[in-house]
Amino acid sequence: MSQQATRTAATVRLRITEIFASVQGESSRVGLPTVFVRLTGCPLRCTWCDTAYAFTGGHTRALDDILAEVASHGLRHVCVTGGEPLAQKGCLALLEALCDAGHEVSLETSGALDIAGVDRRVSRIMDLKAPGSGEVDKNRYENLAELTAHDELKIVLANTGDYDWAREHIARHRLDQRCNVLLSPVAGELDPAELAEWIVRDRLPVRFQLQLHKVLWNDARGR
Ligand code: SF4
Repeated sequence: MSQQATRTAATVRLRITEIFASVQGESSRVGLPTVFVRLTGCPLRCTWCDTAYAFTGGHTRALDDILAEVASHGLRHVCVTGGEPLAQKGCLALLEALCDAGHEVSLETSGALDIAGVDRRVSRIMDLKAPGSGEVDKNRYENLAELTAHDELKIVLANTGDYDWAREHIARHRLDQRCNVLLSPVAGELDPAELAEWIVRDRLPVRFQLQLHKVLWNDARGR
């Protein structure tokens, strides 16, 4: 570690809700054993949010302490999630340090904050919020131009109106030509089989996904 990196690890602090090992439940990394670092806080309030427990609380921890706990799990893949991780100033330093430590790093982000400063080694899994989330006005459309084949775009759908919205946005912004596009149903609101049928019917250039951790553990915290 360089002297600068050592100084950063000693001075950067982040508010952390939890760090745990599980299998990745979403994205093209689904099923891979992964360490999750969940940062506390989010400026959005999606109607279907399943991690509201991360809005507040948590513990403030030094970057080197976080890195040590991640390393203790002995896994290559690390997912930085939230909440909205980018809402914390130290998140960029955390991502860079995890990459420097040799991890394959992904970042789950709402799409409401600027992603341009994220280390290029990180795979950004960015949401585009559909109207059913109640947060469609928070989409930062400038982010779309930042996405590369190393990133993924996720749209969570609550109803048929969200599906039509997503289909129109995928075509208008040629999203499938930028990166993998993932469509997920909101659990308990949109029938997954129905969404799968719509995607096939319309020959949408996307990947259907169910959240694996919900199938396995019914979304229990820390799994
Ligand atoms: S952006 Fe994510 S953490 Fe924030 S309210 Fe929406 S779903 Fe929840």
